[in-house]
Amino acid sequence: MTHPITGLIHHPYVPPEGFEAPQLGVFKASTVFFPTVAAMRSREWKDKTAYTYGLHGTPTSYALEERLATLEGGKQCLLVPSGLAALGLVALSLLKSGDEVLLPDNVYGPNKSLVEGELMGWGITHQYYNPMDPEDLEAQISSRTKLVWLEAAGSVSLEFPNLVEMVRICQRRKVLTALDNTWGAGLAFGPFDLVPGASPAVGVDVSAHALTKYPSGGGDVLMGSVITRDAGLHLKLKLTHMRFGIGVGMNDVELVLRSLPSIALRYRAHDAATRTLAAWAQTQPEFVQVLHPALEESPGHAHWKALCGGAEGTAAGLFSVILDKRFTQAQTDAFCDALRLFRLGYSWGGPVSLVVPYELETMRSGWPAHLLPGTLVRFSIGLEDVADLQADIAQALNALR
Ligand SMILES: *Cc1c(COP(=O)(O)O)cnc(C)c1O
Repeated sequence: MTHPITGLIHHPYVPPEGFEAPQLGVFKASTVFFPTVAAMRSREWKDKTAYTYGLHGTPTSYALEERLATLEGGKQCLLVPSGLAALGLVALSLLKSGDEVLLPDNVYGPNKSLVEGELMGWGITHQYYNPMDPEDLEAQISSRTKLVWLEAAGSVSLEFPNLVEMVRICQRRKVLTALDNTWGAGLAFGPFDLVPGASPAVGVDVSAHALTKYPSGGGDVLMGSVITRDAGLHLKLKLTHMRFGIGVGMNDVELVLRSLPSIALRYRAHDAATRTLAAWAQTQPEFVQVLHPALEESPGHAHWKALCGGAEGTAAGLFSVILDKRFTQAQTDAFCDALRLFRLGYSWGGPVSLVVPYELETMRSGWPAHLLPGTLVRFSIGLEDVADLQADIAQALNALR
């Protein structure tokens, strides 16, 4: 007989097997037990046939990884603590001193900080290419180019690139491609099969996704994923992931698992409301250009239509407006301050609509030629009633009039 205190730790009760419910349950661990020393020594860590240590996964994280790989049409998935950590993992794993990485000029801002503030110090150089010009991308590929980042649509200004052509160029030049797929979320297009039925497949090598946005859907979780289709590439990324110890917490994984079944419904709802508001914004004289891939006036509209399917397709929940250049930045800021339902805040994909005024000229190599001059405001559309959101923008425009 052991002491009751020991019994609290080593209790003989084992719940019956066969429990099934809509949610899987949350398996949390640092320590994972092995039945024998032999099992411990021969532990399998390369695939998901066993468990080794909580940092490398439990049934809960394995389940989310498999579901996300299915969503994006990939085969393997790694979870990391944020979308930015996903971009960082790709860079850490695939780039070495002497290598060069290419990024679109409209790349997600913190990816710029990563290459300029960290990678440069490790002897990894970078160049920015014009996302609207595949020839410019090709011209910048050299023998040192090891990775090309792609983004569709581009951050903040939402240009839609000719993704198919750019991936074809990289495949021909044997350079790895990594797509920041946060906007498309695996719903707008299939990143690993950009041309359905094509053989060999026209697709990216790596899809990085900020699960913080649509997969979470709540504005209350930070997480990222790195999805691949090639086992060797996945293993390389997984080793880096293991060496740096960038695992995720299972309570956060549970939240994403809970939201994932409704992602397609939410994405369609964000998309429909965003298109309604973007079309209305076009009729407002203060906005000289409305940036949303489904609008003809938006750069790259034809590429969006070809890849995402036009009216039947989807286009996420973001649009930006350029305010006439007669308005100062202070007036534009006052317009944003006057909004009531739209809250000031970064990120997107949750229930609350958000607004951010961006000083685009400080983020790009100059004001892009395909955008009219002015000040830029980006809206991310939540799940509120669309008429209320339109009325909110209309009342805030009065701050300008
Ligand atoms: C939000 C975002 C990220 C980073 O996600 P976090 O989880 O906030 O770090 C990366 N790329 C894009 C395009 C994003 O919008």
